[in-house]
Amino acid sequence: MLKTALITDRRYTAHRPGSAHPERPERVEAMIEMADGLRRDELKFIAPREAELDELELCHERDYIASVARTAGLDHYAFDPDTRTSPESFRIALLAAGGVLTAVEAVLEGVVDNAFAIVRPPGHHALPARAMGFCLFNNVAIAAAWLLQRRGLKRVAIVDWDVHHGNGTQEIFYYSPDVLYVSTHQFPQYPGTGAVDEIGEGAGAGYTVNIPLPAQFGDAEYLRAFDELIVPACREFKPEFILVSAGFDCHFRDPLGAMRVTEAGFAGMIRRLKQIAAECCRGRIVAALEGGYDLKALADSGQAVIEELGRETDEPIVAAAGGEAVMPVIERARRAHARI
Ligand SMILES: [Zn+2]
Repeated sequence: MLKTALITDRRYTAHRPGSAHPERPERVEAMIEMADGLRRDELKFIAPREAELDELELCHERDYIASVARTAGLDHYAFDPDTRTSPESFRIALLAAGGVLTAVEAVLEGVVDNAFAIVRPPGHHALPARAMGFCLFNNVAIAAAWLLQRRGLKRVAIVDWDVHHGNGTQEIFYYSPDVLYVSTHQFPQYPGTGAVDEIGEGAGAGYTVNIPLPAQFGDAEYLRAFDELIVPACREFKPEFILVSAGFDCHFRDPLGAMRVTEAGFAGMIRRLKQIAAECCRGRIVAALEGGYDLKALADSGQAVIEELGRETDEPIVAAAGGEAVMPVIERARRAHARI
């Protein structure tokens, strides 16, 4: 068995964006309850630390960080109709960004083989100077920038299978050849970005890979996309660390998404990424929670990913059968990237 760290904390329930809000405290409660049921020697529970302000500044503008800090203690504040805060939200957002950093540190130090950061609020919509889409700080992007700038890594891959496009992550690294950002997402969907021809610019051209998928695609199409495009793109990039924006809102039960991924699909996706990590970077991979709004789907999918992270991986990647419906999207993405 591989040793997996789970980074989480009941304090994540203290961010309360509103009574009817789908990104609710119960999400992390469901994940913690599931994780408590998994306790075994190979799972190491680690408490998150808060991110430092200068760590947030790796991805966010100082004035924007100050605007989030000013919400501390306020009964509520709305950056936009979706993205609301409560008195503790700033602190909990520091703990979310810090939770992914804690996971990355544990893997770098060899305390564990890999890790899953069960954090909220999520991060992948957060832009350098703007909160949106339930996100305040871009937890995964901050961890990637931290690996590059604070630990001297040369290449970090971010794979984002949340049902929504991670526009914040894309924007932060759009001009960078040091971060490969790969996203599968329902399209069209919120936030509207993530077309195949968004491939990065300047030195970053080719290092953003978007795979926009029509509604109703499920395990076969997702795994085919991984086998045809994501696995080869990651192999060519040779990441020194893999970060996963693990949103479970592409699960078939999710109320916000319209995709049909099951627990087996999530296991298949993390298995492939873990195998790439084993090939390229001594297995260094950290998954971080993004979306996922059906509590049972969230817990069951999280469990599938955590169990897969714990499995030894000497077997080669076995390409999935079926999923031919995804091939037109794959071909379009290949053509967009062939032009550079
Ligand atoms: Zn999402």
